[in-house]
Amino acid sequence: MQGSGLNAALNSLFDMVRSLLYLIRNKYNEKVKGNLVKYEPVIGLEVHAQLLTRSKIFCGCSTTFGEEPNTQTCPVCTGQPGSLPVINRKAVEFAIKLGLATSCRIAPYSLFARKNYFYPDLPKGYQISMYEFPLAEDGFIEIMLHGQKKRIQIIRIHLEEDAGKLKHGEAPETASFSYVDFNRTGVPLVEIVSGPDIRSPEELLRELKHDDREIDQCPVTPQHLAEMLSMIKEGTISGKIAKDVFEEMYRTGEHPEKIVRDKGWMQILDEGEIQKAIEKAMEANPKQVEDYRKGKEKLFGFFVGEVMKQTQGKANPKLVNELLKKKLK
Ligand SMILES: [Zn+2]
Repeated sequence: MQGSGLNAALNSLFDMVRSLLYLIRNKYNEKVKGNLVKYEPVIGLEVHAQLLTRSKIFCGCSTTFGEEPNTQTCPVCTGQPGSLPVINRKAVEFAIKLGLATSCRIAPYSLFARKNYFYPDLPKGYQISMYEFPLAEDGFIEIMLHGQKKRIQIIRIHLEEDAGKLKHGEAPETASFSYVDFNRTGVPLVEIVSGPDIRSPEELLRELKHDDREIDQCPVTPQHLAEMLSMIKEGTISGKIAKDVFEEMYRTGEHPEKIVRDKGWMQILDEGEIQKAIEKAMEANPKQVEDYRKGKEKLFGFFVGEVMKQTQGKANPKLVNELLKKKLK
């Protein structure tokens, strides 16, 4: 399997943190007061990992990364009528190995299912995945926590195909287009679903890091993590900047507030300052302003991008949207 690395781990972490905050905000409709002490976090992970086969899961196309867009495609992975999938033996073998390594029960019978998927990066209109009959079930991994073994249940492991890559035009002349690269479409993935056994940010970090000895020296403490979360909640930093803050915390072990202060990463909530950035963006792009006002509304995203560029990504996105809409009218 591919070494997903710190970045992938960070991405899962932030997805999880976002869902967690969302849940807390909506379910209790109360303020998270600086930390998570009032609530007990119960966390389950859904991890996707690429299986390192040389060809895709249902066709012979290469899985090599970084080739020219749409050079590794065929009628099967582009969903042409009449084409039929043929399973890649190696992908099944790898997934079974993973099931065995995590003490799962390997299913004597499993079944692929078609899951509705109406996005253009998977042109069939469905994703081939597993639903009622996954490949492996009911396993576990063990992590060390305070010198004791703790089991994290693995509910299921199943095989599925990855989707392609969408690229949205950013330059003014391409802002109304989206591009799609099907090279990744049909790359084999395993989805690993863990039980809701993770009870603290510390356990989560431990699991994400996969290395017990290293975690003891992990510079990010649960307190720092909780403080960073409340900075997102209070609007001091944006979710986007939080990723950089976390990386800095990880690298230096510093307090999140100190990092944000030193780096000047505070979110801009000042309307005047945002207005100024908007005016600059409009002055620099008179042609786009004209086109927008003539009805080319897709240019709105271009202006948001320009304002974000001017503010180094620190402007509050909601305010940018509101103010920009008024200004562009
Ligand atoms: Zn193909």
